[in-house]
Formats: sequence, structure tokens, C-alpha cells
Amino acid sequence: MDREQAEKRVSELREILWVNSRRYYVENAPTMSDFDYDHLMRELEDLDDEFPDLRTPDSPTQKVGSDLDKGFAQYPHRYPMLSLGNTYNIGEIEDFARRAVKELGEVAFSYSCELKFDGTAICLTYRAGKLFRALTRGDGVVGDDVTANVRMIGNVPLSLKGEGWPEEFEIRGEILMPYESFERLNKERLENEDQPFANPRNAASGSLKLQDPKEVAKRGLMCTLYHIPAQSVSFATHSEALDAAASWGLPVSGERRIVKDIEGIEEYISHWDRQRRYLPYATDGIVIKINELDYQNALGYTAKSPRWAVAFKFQAEEALSRLLSIDYQVGRTGAVTPVANLSPVQLAGTVVKRATLNNEDFISQMDIRVGDWVKVIKGGEIIPKIIDVDLSRRPGDSVRPVFPEYCPDCGARLVKDEDEARWFCPNIDGCPTQIKGKLVHFLSRKAMNVIAGDATVEQMYNLGLVRTPADFYSLDKRKLMTLEGWKDRSAERFLDSLAASREVPFERVLFALGIRHVGETTAKELARSYGSVEALAAASVESLVEVRDIGDVIARSVHDYFDEPGHLAEIERLRAAGLRLSVEEKASASVALAGKTIVISGNFSVSRDEMKRLIETHGGKNSSSVSGKTDFLLAGSKPGPEKIRKAGELGVRIIGEEEFMNMIPSGESPREEPVEPTLF
Ligand code: NAD
Repeated sequence: MDREQAEKRVSELREILWVNSRRYYVENAPTMSDFDYDHLMRELEDLDDEFPDLRTPDSPTQKVGSDLDKGFAQYPHRYPMLSLGNTYNIGEIEDFARRAVKELGEVAFSYSCELKFDGTAICLTYRAGKLFRALTRGDGVVGDDVTANVRMIGNVPLSLKGEGWPEEFEIRGEILMPYESFERLNKERLENEDQPFANPRNAASGSLKLQDPKEVAKRGLMCTLYHIPAQSVSFATHSEALDAAASWGLPVSGERRIVKDIEGIEEYISHWDRQRRYLPYATDGIVIKINELDYQNALGYTAKSPRWAVAFKFQAEEALSRLLSIDYQVGRTGAVTPVANLSPVQLAGTVVKRATLNNEDFISQMDIRVGDWVKVIKGGEIIPKIIDVDLSRRPGDSVRPVFPEYCPDCGARLVKDEDEARWFCPNIDGCPTQIKGKLVHFLSRKAMNVIAGDATVEQMYNLGLVRTPADFYSLDKRKLMTLEGWKDRSAERFLDSLAASREVPFERVLFALGIRHVGETTAKELARSYGSVEALAAASVESLVEVRDIGDVIARSVHDYFDEPGHLAEIERLRAAGLRLSVEEKASASVALAGKTIVISGNFSVSRDEMKRLIETHGGKNSSSVSGKTDFLLAGSKPGPEKIRKAGELGVRIIGEEEFMNMIPSGESPREEPVEPTLF
């Protein structure tokens, strides 16, 4: 390749890698396999070596992928948080070991072999024995402050036990979502017709960046720790430092092993290559580290990773299978999802017969045809995914699938919004599958929590007893006894459960209505912001987008829902049935900020979540963007320039932390200990 061709390819590769890095780290929705990503990164690294003048400091080969998110305060890392050199090739692990021997010379050293946990990296700081701060890797130099969320993770100790811990030290590791939590979360997401997470890694990093720590607590995350920066402690070896951390009550990985040579490393790799499928969480490889801290120091770092460690990555398990047919399934919100029926194939310990095909674009981009041999993977990914088509085995009679134009259930013509990849059946109040799906959702545990299985709802629907949720409340014993196998007891239990649902708080009733894009968390935010169904029904799209975490698409969906006279009539019937359609008044600490809308920006002496709590407990409303309705912009250090500019333009008063604290009655002090920015 000549220089000109190399320049072109370098710029292409950088673009592809940046786009995919963003999808992976920030959006938690990768569209490329790790193997392909690593392959392209390796190609760029090789070009960097061949044409060193094309290498610039902002190249993806020189920087770690960034997970920084505007919604969090950011602090610098005391020591940069780097990535790891990785390979899928055992020969390169041998090269790593040979290089270490060559560079360290005739000294005795050992390797620490560890699992490579497939989650999202975290850096915890303990000060005076207490958890002081938790930062994500961010861009390696600065991380997002997720302390409030990490405090919610059950196995992260808030206080250390034992003795001998340094006054202040950092310890790093991974936040993971065990398979069990992951499956539960995805089941709920599918029930709510939210896009499921592709794998536990994305689910863990998405959960760690939620704005509400209480929601994080429900996600079932765990933490495992594997590194104390050598500067933080005075131990001779990495394994001694971790053993000490374990004795202080920290969740240090137990599967570590110290080995002396490459044979030991290879044995560890082949053991875990087989055994990892029995672990309760995802691992994507093995990490090999030089164990002696002096030798780690001697080997040092590249711009992006330590020279004293390397990762051996396992390839996701894959199998070839035949695509037999495609089903088009209609969900509760009308989304039509194509699902592949495959010839059964053994993969990662289970028999796979079906795989999602996502949407029409996915099928056409991959040019998948019925009759094709397709490559299916199921690595960290629990949901089997088709990642490739084996064109060399395409049969002559393969058939290009035609996405249906009409709903496979009710026959309505399908529609697609410009910004949606999925086709929808628009017949929301007439399509039987959607109606039944909505009824089941309405009664579900997280919504109205009424005891009734899907089959019961199906029967009620088929017998014409219910068409909309309000119909449940006009059922009586006589009608219920017409259901197959129902006796006095079963009817009474159902009616008792229905009566109890009248006490369900407004936010859950709102979730139960099944408004498209309104999951549990959004329903909570809407209930908190508007207080009642009347106020919500009257809200404009512009006002809805002011609510935390609500964007254009959700705002439009909520607005359109309440624009429909049929929906308003249904809400009136639910009101008549005695359901809660407004928030119970909670006594606030004071009314000092009543009627005030406050936007916050920048860093404060406490986290932003704590500032929001203070605003709300004193009767104020926190909003995410500055508009004509904003009363104050509460600015900490490093406020967003755009917010400051907008406040100036609209004449919104800017106040600082001290002035804010003076506005609320004294005695209500922040709940957290004050934080000082850490220096490099
Ligand atoms: P990485 O995941 O390959 O390895 C480094 C990370 O491993 C560390 O930051 C740490 O978080 C983790 N780790 C787990 N166990 C560890 C242990 N015992 N000791 C030390 N570290 C341990 O690197 P990365 O920089 O986080 O991510 C880069 C990788 O992410 C790429 O190699 C690629 O596979 C994947 N990626 C994929 C896409 C995509 O589109 N599929 C995009 C970007 C990145």
C-alpha cells in the first residue's frame, strides 16, 4: 500500500472505529461484533507502525474509548485509567511473555492470571475507611462521578473492615450484571416493548449511568475488584495488594492464580475457556499481569495500556444454522418484529431454534434470505443473534423475505415513522394482539399487580368480558364464573386483587396505561413532574421535553396518547372505578422554593442528584434545560456554557451554591459528605 492509499484507509478506519466506539461506550448499543472491532483496530495499529507520521494523538489507537456523559459531574483520575492490549491469538501471549523476560532480564518474576470480567470499569476511592467516590473510566483522564449509584450496589462496602488500610487509596475493578439480573431486566424490557440490552456488559454500563440511584438498586449489579494502582499502597506484589483488599472486606475476584511460566498461563486459559460458561456472570477472556510491582514499574505504559499486562480474548461461541422461515410478531404497542426460525443448533450449552432479526433494515442490510446458512452467536449475548450469512452456501432457491405490508394479526396497513426502524400496526385499539397485550400489561406485577395469568386474560377477551382495562373493574362474580375452571374462590381472589389495585400509586397507573415509550422510570418522572393525569393530559410537547430524561420521541408519544378522545374516555372510566390518578401530597420540608423552576449546571460541593433532591424537598421543580419558564440557573463550578448563554439571553437569574443554600431554611444540610476535587 502506498502512502496515499494508507492515508485514505487510516481516515476510513478512524471514522468507523469512532462511530462504533460511541455506540458501544455511550449508547450501549453496539452494532459490530467485538471481534470485528478488534480486527479493524489491529489494521489501524499496523498502519500506524508502517506510516508513523500518520499517527496523531487523537487516533483511536492512542486513546481509550470514552464513556463520558453530560448528565454527571466529572472528576479527574488520580492515575490515568487505561485499556489493555488484547489478542485472540495464543502465539501473541507467548510473545508477551518472551518480551517480559527479555526486558526484565535474568530476574525471577511471576504472572497473575485473572478472569477478564465483561462489564464496565470502575475506580473506587476509599478515604478514612469509607467509600468516598466512584468514577467511571470516562476518557481515561476524567471520569463520570457515579458514587450515588455505586452506593446502591450490594457488594460494595461503604465502610472497610479489618485494619491496615491506607488513609486514602484507589481500587479499580468492574461493575457487572450477573446473567440472572440480566435475564430478568431484559424480560421486563421486552414486556414493556423497550429494546432489550444486547448483552450483560451493555446492561451494566447503561444501568450505572441511570439518573436515579433507586432504579440502580433494582438492577441487581455487582462489583468485582482487580487492581490497586501501585502508587496507592506499599506492597511488593499485585496479589498481596489484592489479598489485603479482600481482608478489608472488598469484593476481590477469587479466581486469580499465580503462575511462573507460559505453560501455567496456557493451562489457566484452557481451564477457563471450558469452565467460564458455569460462572454466574460474563467473562470475555483472561488477563495476564506481571505480579511484582517493581517490575510492573520497570515495564511502564504505552499511551493506551500497560506494558505489564495483556488480555487474551475468547471468541464468542458461534454456530451455523439454516434459516427455515420468518415469523412476524406483533407486540403490545404494535411493533412488528421479524423472528428467525432456525434449524436447531447447539450453542453455548443450549439449543437455539429462534433468533431475532430486529427489523426490516437489518434483514436487507445483511441480505438474509430464507434457506440461507447463517452464523449465530451467543457469547455474553444471551439472546442469539445472527451476525453473518454464508454466501458460499446460498441455495439457488433461497427466497428474499418480503416484509408484510399488513398486520399479520388484524390486517391493518403497517406504518413506519421517519425516525423509527420498526414497522407498526396503527390499529392500537382494534388489533386483538395489541389489545390482549395491553390488558396483560395493565394487570402485570409492576403495573396494577392483579393476579391473573395471560391465559385468563385471553379467555376473558375471547368471551367478550373485557376490551379495555376499565372493563376489568365492571367484572363481577357471576361473569367471572363463566371462565373455564373458575369457582367461587378463584373469582373472589381475583376481585380482592382488583380491589387492592385501587391503592396502586399514580405513577404505576400511568405505567399500566401502556403508553408507547413510557416505561416504569418515565412514568415515575411524569407523575413527579405533573402530579395528576389532568395536568399531564394538558401538557404540550415543549413542556414534556423539559422533564428529565424525556426526549422528543417520548414527549410526542405522550402528547398523542392524550390527544385521543377514546383514551380520555377510558381514563374517566378508570377514575370512576376508583383508581388513583394523581400523586398523593407528600409534606415537603419547606415551601421555600414553591413554584420555582430551577435548572442546575456544573459541579457542586455535593452531587447533582443531592442538589435536585434539595430543590424538590423545598417545593421547587428541577428542569434540565433553560427556557422562558426557568426562574433560576443554579451554577456550580464549570457550568455548561450553552446554559449560561441561554440564561443571559432569556434574562434568567444565575445563582451560585451559597445563594441557593441561603434560600432554603437552615438545618436542611446536604446528606453527603463534602467532596473536594482530586488532583492528578
Ligand atoms: P477491553 O475491554 O478489551 O479491556 C480492558 C478492560 O478490561 C479494562 O478497562 C477493564 O475494565 C477490563 N477488565 C476486566 N477484567 C479485568 C482484570 N482482571 N484486570 C484488568 N482489567 C480487567 O478494553 P476496553 O478499552 O474497555 O474496550 C475495548 C474493547 O471493547 C475492544 O477491544 C472491543 O472488543 C470492545 N469494543 C467493541 C466495540 C464494538 O462496536 N463492538 C466498540 C468499541 C469497543
